Amino acid sequence: MDELLEPLIRGDRRALSRAITLIESTRPDHRERAIALLSALPDRQALRIGLSGTPGVGKSTFIEAFGTMLTERGLRVAVLAVDPSSTRSGGSILGDKTRMETLSRNPAAFIRPTPSNAQLGGVARRTREAIRLCEAAGFDVVLIETVGVGQSETLVAEMSDLFVLLLAPAGGDELQGVKRGIMEMADLILVNKADGVLLPTARRTVADYAGALRLLRKRPQDPDGFPKAVAVSAATGHGLESAWDDMTTLTDWRREHGHFDGNRAAQARHWFMAELRAGLLARLDEADAKARLGRLGDAVAAGEMAPGEAASRMLEDLSRRVD
Ligand code: GDP
Repeated sequence: MDELLEPLIRGDRRALSRAITLIESTRPDHRERAIALLSALPDRQALRIGLSGTPGVGKSTFIEAFGTMLTERGLRVAVLAVDPSSTRSGGSILGDKTRMETLSRNPAAFIRPTPSNAQLGGVARRTREAIRLCEAAGFDVVLIETVGVGQSETLVAEMSDLFVLLLAPAGGDELQGVKRGIMEMADLILVNKADGVLLPTARRTVADYAGALRLLRKRPQDPDGFPKAVAVSAATGHGLESAWDDMTTLTDWRREHGHFDGNRAAQARHWFMAELRAGLLARLDEADAKARLGRLGDAVAAGEMAPGEAASRMLEDLSRRVD
């Protein structure tokens, strides 16, 4: 049995941190140990909440306030960041502990930034496995934060039970700026900074988005009133309790109707296929496969072999090497 397993299950944050470092490693012996550790984990569930928003919208402030509120309710909260674009000083600008100072010192919380030099595919696997580790360590809520660059929003939505979009108060024309696909993924739109002089604009923005959400087809897995747009202020804490109530209402409903487990099953199937595709592509990158690819490519370029035939020979070759 792995020496990390027992302290991890006890909820030891240092063991959790070391286990995440282990799953982030690409060294073959580390990978082997990581896979063994992951398959030995107990079956515990946390609520996985994906949170997306552009830089400056208030994600750190929100997580700090929202996470603290949850810990005050006796819940343990883990924060993982998905930021494939991050290059800053070998760590992420997201999940940066200095930006969530109170929460990072809270014994009921755990914050982990994106590893450096991470690529989207690698981040996906690492984050899914880190979620499992957090669940095994007894966390009740796992927040997965992303700036939503490139495909990262879709990626986070595909590993979350709930997807929350954090937006800033803005004029109606900005509504067009949020891509329809992202709106369709959102279970809850939180218009942040609904305080002080921004309050009237925030209220208008909520109304705009509520209207836009009503135009989207209602999802069969959701109760009336969802997806929903509401106003919050991460700075004053206003609306955070009610946002949590909305999240639990939606989750409870989905659990009762089998959609919660159904969604996780579909996600597991999706990630299995994604891993398989990635694995096959990686196989093409191996030295002997590359040499064979080069030769077949030359033959195709010289008109000696049709592209389809070359591809089918390569596939045959790959499947022979599996046996
Ligand atoms: P992030 O880049 O999305 O993580 O955004 P931050 O949490 O760093 O916040 C960006 C800026 O917006 C900071 O100056 C915050 O103080 C400010 N901010 C965040 N939440 C609120 C809020 O609810 N109300 C107001 N007025 N300002 C906020």
